[in-house]
Amino acid sequence: YYDNNTILYHNGSFLKAAELTMDLYSQSLHYGYSVFEGIRSYRTASGETRIFKATEHYERLERSAALVNMPYHWSVNQLIDATYETLSRNNLQDAYIRPLVYAPANMSFNVNTESYITIQVWEMQPFLGDKLLRVMGSSFQRPNPRGFRIEAKASGHYVNSILASQEAKAKGYDEALLNDINGFVAEGPGANIFFEKNGKLYTPPTGNILPGITRATIFELCGESGIEVEEKLFTTEDLKQADAAFFCGTAAEVVGWQSFDDVPMVKEWNDTISRKIQLAYKELVTEKITEPSTL
Ligand code: PMP
Repeated sequence: YYDNNTILYHNGSFLKAAELTMDLYSQSLHYGYSVFEGIRSYRTASGETRIFKATEHYERLERSAALVNMPYHWSVNQLIDATYETLSRNNLQDAYIRPLVYAPANMSFNVNTESYITIQVWEMQPFLGDKLLRVMGSSFQRPNPRGFRIEAKASGHYVNSILASQEAKAKGYDEALLNDINGFVAEGPGANIFFEKNGKLYTPPTGNILPGITRATIFELCGESGIEVEEKLFTTEDLKQADAAFFCGTAAEVVGWQSFDDVPMVKEWNDTISRKIQLAYKELVTEKITEPSTL
């Protein structure tokens, strides 16, 4: 992720990643008490560097901090500027951007008077890859929304993601799918889910999931091109009869499924609306202009 020349942003200044030290007594390290974002920048069709949905991501970071009572004193525009500057100092266009808001030394559970921010950037590596995924129904549930601020992108929640993803990979699958505490499908460890049936898309409502920015973008793409999409609770049984299914997220983008619990998707990926959404998403983030009607 970094070498001796990598520059990061830290509390208003730019410094070498290799030289940043973190307090071992930080509440973040001991209790998973920090919030973060995952953002992408792209080299667009015109050759420019563009951070996709930068405002939405930094607004969510601020919301996440508020949800877990962390002090937050940065403006969206200040952080967007700092991010472009960090990308430029590292000579990166197609990058993954990881802002992290973390806590000072504090071994109690008390609220802090201070928070710190870093923005780290690195060259984008494939997250789930381009091939169709073999997905496994996880034995882990997503965290109980009454026990966590489930709509915050908080570091501690990701122990659940790590467990689910590790379990799936240990069993020879590409990724896990987790239910909510009521037994309905929720999301993947780091991505939201949609499925397609008879020309229509379905995705779980908010309440038990991270409200994804990619998920919201797919609603926009569907709206522009007249594709029906509905928020609905459903179970893994519905997925076994789905024409197609996909994960979506900033890092994953739109990635189709080959099978769920070894049951293949009904349709060939290339014959689905989901595939069209995948292509439209790619064109949107790289700013290739297409008319919505070509979807
Ligand atoms: N759910 C979880 C648990 C995630 O970690 C992510 C990735 N941030 C998503 C959904 C997708 O969110 P987004 O589209 O905003 O990246």
